[in-house]
Amino acid sequence: MSTLKIGNVCVTDLTKNFQTPLYVYDQEKIEAIIDLFTESFQSSQFKTKILYASKAFQAIEMINLVAEKSWGLDIVSGGELYAALQSKIAVDKIYFHGNNKTYQELDFAFQSRIKHIVCDNYMELIEISSLANLHQQKMNISLRLNVGVEAHTHEYIVTSHIDSKFGFAFESEECRNCLNLINENEFLKLEGFHSHIGSQIFDMKAFYAAIDKLIVYLKEFPDPLTLNIGGGFGIAYSQQDNPLKIETVLKSLIEYVEITLKQHELKIAELIIEPGRSIVGEAGCTLYTVGYQKVTPGRKYYFVDGGMTDNLRPSLYQARYTCDIANRMDEEKTEKVTVAGKCCESGDILIQEALLPPAKLGDVLVIYTTGAYGYSMSNQYNRHVIPGVVFVKDGQVKEVIRRQTFADLIQQEVIGGQTFGQLVSQKVTQGQASAQEIRHKANQGSDFRSYITYEVIENEC
Ligand code: PLP
Repeated sequence: MSTLKIGNVCVTDLTKNFQTPLYVYDQEKIEAIIDLFTESFQSSQFKTKILYASKAFQAIEMINLVAEKSWGLDIVSGGELYAALQSKIAVDKIYFHGNNKTYQELDFAFQSRIKHIVCDNYMELIEISSLANLHQQKMNISLRLNVGVEAHTHEYIVTSHIDSKFGFAFESEECRNCLNLINENEFLKLEGFHSHIGSQIFDMKAFYAAIDKLIVYLKEFPDPLTLNIGGGFGIAYSQQDNPLKIETVLKSLIEYVEITLKQHELKIAELIIEPGRSIVGEAGCTLYTVGYQKVTPGRKYYFVDGGMTDNLRPSLYQARYTCDIANRMDEEKTEKVTVAGKCCESGDILIQEALLPPAKLGDVLVIYTTGAYGYSMSNQYNRHVIPGVVFVKDGQVKEVIRRQTFADLIQQEVIGGQTFGQLVSQKVTQGQASAQEIRHKANQGSDFRSYITYEVIENEC
């Protein structure tokens, strides 16, 4: 029986130590991709900057990884800002996005002394302007523009029909009002324009179409501005996906911007991208335990101990994945099965059709490429606990986020004016019970060796 190793760690060791479901990240892979992005996104004509779009997977350890490589961070909420502030990222490298940042979130941003806000609409800018006055604090503002290019996977469309909830047209009254307000407020500075045209983009022409639009807008402004062309670089979830090499994508983007600027005799201060999925997507996988099986007239099901709670993407937008039985890597794949989760929703299907070997109760099923928008979209539907996250590198396993306990699920429930969490800590303090008696013990950390590229070993761990 061959077992999948991620690095030098048998996945069966990981599941024993951290339970399932479990998100496993290949740290070396993340670091390598960060370096590849940094090397490939350089220009001799303008400054470049990369922000990690942390919505793809936000954990303090993950933010630290990008901080160590001098990247910036894209955040979209007060919660993401709060977590970022606990990490090593410098506050002036945080860019605050989002279409409906609340007054409280914006106030928190000013109090935290962040320096960059990507503004999504005029009403938001009015709040930002009054907060800048209140705090007597400077703020660099980028305007999120809707350039009328929509790209998803293999296709893109250019449209004059601009109805997205994000951004506004450069030609719109909304944009004029924003530019005027920035001019009028001594604390606000127009940093530049931002556009994010979609996700899982495979066609460079979509990016080029957006760049063409953005660069023309610069003509109105005497000083060089910053262009932020967003994220959206496609990755391979299955064999149907065939993305270009990321170094080719990035170098082509730089070249296209350089040439287009030259054609228009324009300069920019800086070119920014903000990748999320392409940084963490392929470096992460999820381990599950196979539960019961069921044969219906139309299909055979393998049920696993997670589902739409740890990976919402298949039910949300029919995302496709590939998988293996991680402790039967050498066995013939004779079973065409549907991998279904344990949530009370018929749509809780992780993989509609997978070819796998015959599996037994307790086997480990691995779903690949779950590193982006997996953990970050996880939820507690049916009171399932949020799984743990581990990073594996150079023979080390680092527990990055601990699996929730049942007690965590009711921590904030109020009983007689106090939260369950408060009651627990009081009981512990008063010696009426030990924390262990009340809480389920969370996963135990471990420091056994591992190395993080997928490989298969010839025996059982
Ligand atoms: N920037 C913005 C404004 C986004 O909305 C997103 C994703 O939704 C990203 C960056 C990251 O996109 P991706 O993870 O596809 O690279």
